[in-house]
Amino acid sequence: MATVEFRQASRIYDPARPPAVNRVSLTIDDGEFLVLVGPSGCGKSTTLRMLAGLEPVDEGSIFIDGVDVSEVPARDRDTAMVFQSYALYPNMTARQNMAFALENAKVPRATIAEKVARAAKMLELEPLLDVRPGNMSGGQRQRIAMGRAIVRDPKVFCMDEPLSNLDAKLRVATRGQISQLQRELGVTTVYVTHDQTEAMTMGDRVCVLKDGIVQQVDTPTHLYEHPGNTFVAGFIGSPAITLIDGVAIEDGRAVLGEGHVVDLGIERELAARATTGRVITGVRPEAWEILGVGGDRLPDTVPLKVILVEHLGSEAYLYCEPLMTADSTVSIRGGRVVVRADKRRTFRVDDVLSARPRFGESYFFDPATEINLEYL
Ligand code: ADP
Repeated sequence: MATVEFRQASRIYDPARPPAVNRVSLTIDDGEFLVLVGPSGCGKSTTLRMLAGLEPVDEGSIFIDGVDVSEVPARDRDTAMVFQSYALYPNMTARQNMAFALENAKVPRATIAEKVARAAKMLELEPLLDVRPGNMSGGQRQRIAMGRAIVRDPKVFCMDEPLSNLDAKLRVATRGQISQLQRELGVTTVYVTHDQTEAMTMGDRVCVLKDGIVQQVDTPTHLYEHPGNTFVAGFIGSPAITLIDGVAIEDGRAVLGEGHVVDLGIERELAARATTGRVITGVRPEAWEILGVGGDRLPDTVPLKVILVEHLGSEAYLYCEPLMTADSTVSIRGGRVVVRADKRRTFRVDDVLSARPRFGESYFFDPATEINLEYL
């Protein structure tokens, strides 16, 4: 068990381009489950591989349990990696795969047997110990890869998209198993995924990366409720938040709409931080209130034309096109608004909603920096 600290750590593959990992500073507590999340190419794997010693630290440093390991070879860092590909030896049984690293380290045979048996029990792998990976399902291989990491009793687990080769249902089940196992073992874990749902459901804290730069490190709930900037707001949450540019602040109120005024309920103190008189507003699907369908547009609402209805069983999402006039001062990014709707109500394509964001449920960002006004 150990703490991990990245201190201004960078990885520069090509000096002519921005660093793949750019001055990452991050402290991970003993026993914590930290998820690195972000779009493809944002530097998640490289960050993890730097911790495991599989990539050099070109600038800055990385500490494990207070010791600078930046120059320490991978085998001496006491981290155990679980890869997306599992990287199992095909000609070895599950038992041999799990025991291999320990045999190389000259661990006594009785100890190896004990550790393998314990891991196999935790992972419900006992019936498979003498089976080779070629004769196993994806989920079983994934558990062997986990078992191989567990038997080493490492200071840190490094997991690189370990669930991405599983089908959707198994992924959800395994997600829960890994979280539970990590809690039982109490081993500090750094987990890479591009899937924000995985990040939100598994992490004690989540670190959002973009272009090699840390955007925000926070608990899942706090990330969702207090996103630091428009990128985090757009990345966390599914379906995604709607971002509206050019929303005016008038008399301390953020207003939307033409002729009709939708008061978004910005706090006075936040409104005062908006230097240009305009803000970017973020509205999550659940923050929209539908006041009417069809007929005349109701006062103080925004007209939204339904272009797609998505029924998910427990809820429904309406993908809408805002019917703003061409000379409107606001513009909606991507031209789409997603509204969560009561599943008991029937909506059809081409319905026109009179809707508005519920008072006080929008987010406000500075147009120049795209930072949430809360953080300015
Ligand atoms: P992610 O895991 O978030 O998808 P990576 O860490 O794999 O991102 O990659 C981050 C950036 O570094 C990308 O722009 C990628 O093209 C670049 N990169 C990764 N590995 C190498 C490499 N071995 N040589 C050069 N560039 C690399």
